[in-house]
Amino acid sequence: MKKVAVIGAGTMGNGIAHTFAQKGFSVNMIDISQAALDKAIGTITKNLDRMVAKQTISASDKANTLMNLKTYTEISEGVKDVQLVVEAATENIDLKLKIFKNLDEITSPDVILATNTSSISITKIASVTTRPDKIIGMHFMNPVPVMKLVEIIRGYSTSDETTISIMEMSKELGKVPVEVNDYPGFVANRILMPMINEAIITLYEGVAGVEEIDTVMKLGMAHPMGPLQLADFIGLDVCLSILNVINEGFGNPKYAPCPLLVNMVTAGKLGVKSGEGFYNWNHTTKDLIVSSQFK
Ligand code: NAD
Repeated sequence: MKKVAVIGAGTMGNGIAHTFAQKGFSVNMIDISQAALDKAIGTITKNLDRMVAKQTISASDKANTLMNLKTYTEISEGVKDVQLVVEAATENIDLKLKIFKNLDEITSPDVILATNTSSISITKIASVTTRPDKIIGMHFMNPVPVMKLVEIIRGYSTSDETTISIMEMSKELGKVPVEVNDYPGFVANRILMPMINEAIITLYEGVAGVEEIDTVMKLGMAHPMGPLQLADFIGLDVCLSILNVINEGFGNPKYAPCPLLVNMVTAGKLGVKSGEGFYNWNHTTKDLIVSSQFK
């Protein structure tokens, strides 16, 4: 495979497009918003500049990477002649089902259709296509150019052939692919989200304050960031929505989101993106501005 399309040019889409392009793939980046595409090219250029400055890539690597990228607002134009599509559009089930039904109609039947979803069932997405054997999860981590892991999720009908080909291609990207099956939260979020939820419950029950909880996990467990700070970075709305998927998927109350998390999301306290979560954040620089209100 040498030509791929990436659908969605947001946080994840631009990182995925960057990673493929830097490894010599020809990449068509597609978004309904021209502004999102322009911003994505700006972000990729800035990230490449940083890599050149650190001497991890050369100036000609940067130029070649940018040359490998094309942008489209029309999905039918952007998926012409590609061997793989990686969908990284907004996390909304109806939107993803619509995109995959359309992709199934407009791409050749041998094209593999992958999704970067954090929580939507691969089997469900596959069910709206006529090629469930060629539908697979490729769950990259943020920031994509830096993080090594790709969780490769096999839907109920994903074939061995599709899985092997995506595992091999992920290695070509310099990533470490890990194969998992399609159950709520896959592996990464099934373990991470209950940990974050438990940290919020610990705060809610008054066992300790925000900084105390995060310090225990940072210094005691060698986590690079405490769970509450990580929740602020991920977005409290995103954490809540993934917990809801896991809770509903297993029907097990141990996954029920903490009422404090529900309240904070309802009140619009979403973490870094809204400026306030468990900590207060500078909107533009993403710096911590004052210490936590939760003591
Ligand atoms: P984002 O909101 O930053 O970007 C989504 C982009 O999709 C936007 O630019 C939007 O214009 C575009 N879009 C919406 N509808 C579209 C359509 N019909 N066709 C083409 N483009 C469309 O979102 P994100 O954080 O990049 O998340 C994208 C996906 O990656 C989601 O499925 C999310 O669950 C998953 N994910 C996110 C993270 C993360 O840390 N942000 C990590 C792993 C996986």
